[in-house]
Amino acid sequence: MLTDNQNAASAFDRLGQLIDGQWVGGGRHGETVVNPATGDSLGRLPHASPDELGRAVAAAERAFGAWSATPALARRQVLLRAARLLEERSATIARTLTLEQGKPLAEAQAELTTAIEVFEWYAEETRRLYGRIIPARALDVTQAVHHEPVGPVAAFTPWNFPALTPARKIAGALAAGCTLVIKPSEETPATALELARACVDAGLPPGVLNVVFGAPAEISEFLVRSSPIRKITFTGSIPVGKHLAQLAASNGLKRCTLELGGHAPVLVFDDADVERAAQVSAAGRFRNAGQVCVAPSRFYVHRSVAERFAAEMAKAARALVLGNGLDTATTMGPLANPRRLAAMKHYVQDALQAGGRLETGGRQPDRPGFFFEPTVLSGMPDHAAAMRDETFGPIAPVTTFDTLDEALARANGLPYGLAAYAFTESPRTAAAVSRGLSAGMVGINHLAISIAEAPFGGVRESGYGSEGGTEGLSAYLTPKFVTQLAT
Ligand code: NAD
Repeated sequence: MLTDNQNAASAFDRLGQLIDGQWVGGGRHGETVVNPATGDSLGRLPHASPDELGRAVAAAERAFGAWSATPALARRQVLLRAARLLEERSATIARTLTLEQGKPLAEAQAELTTAIEVFEWYAEETRRLYGRIIPARALDVTQAVHHEPVGPVAAFTPWNFPALTPARKIAGALAAGCTLVIKPSEETPATALELARACVDAGLPPGVLNVVFGAPAEISEFLVRSSPIRKITFTGSIPVGKHLAQLAASNGLKRCTLELGGHAPVLVFDDADVERAAQVSAAGRFRNAGQVCVAPSRFYVHRSVAERFAAEMAKAARALVLGNGLDTATTMGPLANPRRLAAMKHYVQDALQAGGRLETGGRQPDRPGFFFEPTVLSGMPDHAAAMRDETFGPIAPVTTFDTLDEALARANGLPYGLAAYAFTESPRTAAAVSRGLSAGMVGINHLAISIAEAPFGGVRESGYGSEGGTEGLSAYLTPKFVTQLAT
């Protein structure tokens, strides 16, 4: 009998595409999937050929008729069976996730639990795909609004949450009655394929879900230009999101849901429990080595408590154990790829030049893999790159403020608007920041904003549209008004 670790590694022998219910391997082109904790190869991911991409779109188009007409409660059963299979297989899939992405096993398990909850949430929401009756202007007229699935969907997901982000898109689309072609990240393909395998094993008909990999720009160009595709959903960086929105507009004015990351401000007021605020902030900032779009990532702390906050955060950072995520002692894994490592070095160097103080971290440890120390910088000027850019790594820049209005203006002063947080014991301050922070999600005194039953999405350059909550299902539906005169 194989161990969980052996089963997890074997997922990399099965890499390929899922097209019209068939698992397709091989192919001339492809790339190596790398373990970020060691730099070693995990396996080879074949790329889809143009012919395979065409077959995937054709399958999604063909399957749409029957799947959209499948009773909502039957779609619910498939989603619930997939959730049960994911639960049964979670010990293995979590290890696969850690191998390809790097996060500690406990975090991978927590991510899978949330992904399973997303399947369950959308399954249950199929019971509430309500329309409505609109009172007519004449007695012999009936008027109704039906919510219809928007059509075949093209979905693109990144490498930081290889289970949760595909789960949001797959379960939302399937619950609504849409079919989809998804391109998960080529850097973390095995976890997404295991989600697809659970759907297939749960009885999802061929063609309803198709999974493809390749050069991201080529695949998205192909899929977005394909006329059967009616909706685009993308999670990733702002420049790519803007590019896809333009492509979607000029090729059939396709609907988009865009989750494009952020740079979440944290306001810590002088009446907050400062030590707790620092510990909660550190846990949030260093989770997944900082590669979380809603991570608290720039810290505005009242001048009177800033020194205590930075010291406590540095203490929490020093307590983290860097290592291979499969090692149970590890509390922070490597960065997911060498691009993030280069970016962290740049942010630290820039911060020191700009006058920031290094409280802890700041270096790449001398070991294989893409590790970077959890880093706290204090006295940061607003113009430093780490205060302005989405750093997407384990760097916590801390600065001070004097008044609430000043803190809000500086927090809202960037083009992002995904998540924002505040720590305060004052109900008046809490009300002012929940009104005043320009963000799609606001957490006060805690960070738990990403749950299946709540809308997840941003404003301004962080994108538009929501995943999760009832809003997440609406994203895959379109209203149809039907008015009928009795004759
Ligand atoms: P990137 O912009 O090259 O890629 C981001 C994601 O988009 C990847 O999964 C990639 O495969 C995909 N992608 C890239 N070009 C695409 C295209 N033309 N069509 C479709 N998909 C495409 O950058 P990266 O180096 O992987 O990450 C850099 C930055 O992206 C990070 O610093 C972070 O700001 C942002 N990011 C955000 C999220 C998020 O959750 N919102 C996730 C990952 C990365």
